[in-house]
Amino acid sequence: MSTHAELAERHGTPLYVYDLDRVDAARRELFAALPAGVDLYYALKANPHPDLVRALRAGPGRPCRAEISSVGELAAALAAGCPADECLYTGPGKTDTELDQALAAGVRLFSVESPGDLRRIGAHATRHGVTADCLLRVNAATGTATTSIRMTGRPSQFGMDSETLPGLMPELLAVPGTRIVGAHLFTMSNAKDQAGLFAELEHAVELATRLAHEAGLPLEYLDIGGGFAAPYAVPGRRDRYPRLRAGLERLLDERLPRWRDATPRVACESGRYLVGDSGTLLTRVVNIKESRGSTFVILDAGINAVGGLSGLGRLLPAAVGVEGPVGDLRASLVGPLCTPGDTLARDVPLPALEPGDVVAVPNVGAYGVTASLMGFLSRPAPTEVVVRAGEVVSVSRLEPRRVHEPVKAAVG
Ligand SMILES: *Cc1c(COP(=O)(O)O)cnc(C)c1O
Repeated sequence: MSTHAELAERHGTPLYVYDLDRVDAARRELFAALPAGVDLYYALKANPHPDLVRALRAGPGRPCRAEISSVGELAAALAAGCPADECLYTGPGKTDTELDQALAAGVRLFSVESPGDLRRIGAHATRHGVTADCLLRVNAATGTATTSIRMTGRPSQFGMDSETLPGLMPELLAVPGTRIVGAHLFTMSNAKDQAGLFAELEHAVELATRLAHEAGLPLEYLDIGGGFAAPYAVPGRRDRYPRLRAGLERLLDERLPRWRDATPRVACESGRYLVGDSGTLLTRVVNIKESRGSTFVILDAGINAVGGLSGLGRLLPAAVGVEGPVGDLRASLVGPLCTPGDTLARDVPLPALEPGDVVAVPNVGAYGVTASLMGFLSRPAPTEVVVRAGEVVSVSRLEPRRVHEPVKAAVG
């Protein structure tokens, strides 16, 4: 067994520690909260670490499929043992190179975000001599729950506007190299509560069935999205959804009476719920300073290691919290970077700390390393340690490095 203090001593800080037992538990609990037979896609965006992706495939229980959006994520999914025909390729800007590589690898299911996206997928599929199965991602005109991250209801690069989709259907159904097999709705992240989550999923089912009836949208496969909530960089635990399964079963029985025979096959997707609580960031206090009555605890990890997207107002650690009893100290937690933006928490209660102490930032298994500003200020990326049953199973580090290429002559 290795304690956090021992791991920090042995591997240095900043150090991410991922616990695969927690990944197993999250997968088990999320599958249990969904009706039997519903597919679950893991959004690799949350954390493409190969051991985590592999854990979501392996072991007892149903494996997660992979929701991918780049050639890097495609490679990570394949390397983790997810077959290409269990990958869903998404994203508003799929390039020629990535479509070519995805089709060559055997990916056949794509989420389509626009007519142009569909035509490009079709052209590449035709060149490969195959047909691409396509889910039309729908940007609903109206939403329900309030969440931190909304992706529908307004103009968006994501999905096709639900109000104009019926008029486009004949054209979309005729794109060579493609077969429209269903719909993809992903309207939010991090639902406020069980009722909000259910309302959003209900809305997704209702919209998809309406488009099937009124606009002839084929419905062999229906990805109703997600929004399963998990804390980020603060203490706390994943939401539990004790009534979701029965609620969804009732809803699907009512709207899609043959769903139990996989007509349509139904899917959900999640990133943060599956891996968020598996990760802890260990960071060391480098210095403590006072300035005009305020205290700053300066850590060796900043927005280059965690919460790097907070500047965009997304995925924000409103305030990073640390594990352990809170003492009398009130201070701001800042990183080592030369920018005032490198602030992880402002004026929060903290345990008594001294330089050299290790603090643990919990719930950073999702949107940790790869969602941070790794390249900024040219510090090494944090080491990532994976443990199972308290034993270390792997130690690795992402290494951003410059690769030189030949200088090409100007054309003309
Ligand atoms: C980001 C994303 C997810 C994962 O979101 P979480 O909040 O981490 O569950 C799932 N699906 C799509 C389409 C996404 O863009």
